[in-house]
Amino acid sequence: MATVQENFIAWLRDAYAMEQQAVEILERQAPRLDDYPDMQAKIREHLELSKSQAERLRTCLQRLGTDISAIKTGLAQLTGNAAAMMNALSSDEVVKQTIADYAFENFEIANYRCLIGAAEAAGDRETRRVCEEILREEEAMASWIEDHLPVITRQFLQRDDRQSRASLG
Ligand code: MG
Ligand code: FE
Repeated sequence: MATVQENFIAWLRDAYAMEQQAVEILERQAPRLDDYPDMQAKIREHLELSKSQAERLRTCLQRLGTDISAIKTGLAQLTGNAAAMMNALSSDEVVKQTIADYAFENFEIANYRCLIGAAEAAGDRETRRVCEEILREEEAMASWIEDHLPVITRQFLQRDDRQSRASLG
């Protein structure tokens, strides 16, 4: 059992850890996307945005008097799976990665929707405003991936098909 404030702060800390995880994932992905420049540029842009989201959450946590240094950035279940998926070397890595990114953005969206309700219950208007702002950023990224997943898939298929035919001579 926990008070509204305790649950709210615990979830805010989870979101902070989630954003640090996002930064790690995006940092690992960006250099591997040289063959997909549009995707690479978007991933780099979202990497910078995720750093700023972590910063904004940190400000909220500090205002609530939370010790940031104690926050473990261990993998949450879904993010762990997504990270493992991205580590796996496979020829269709870019497609699997983009699918995992889409899942991750939607995981973030669900977390911010939860936090908006919790901030409201806790009467924390500023954290609610920050979470609404970040939610819009995550929704924009999810929507970009939604639009681009078929394009990236076709790009991969053409490349792989060309390479496959070339190797056959
Ligand atoms: Mg984020
Ligand atoms: Fe995100």
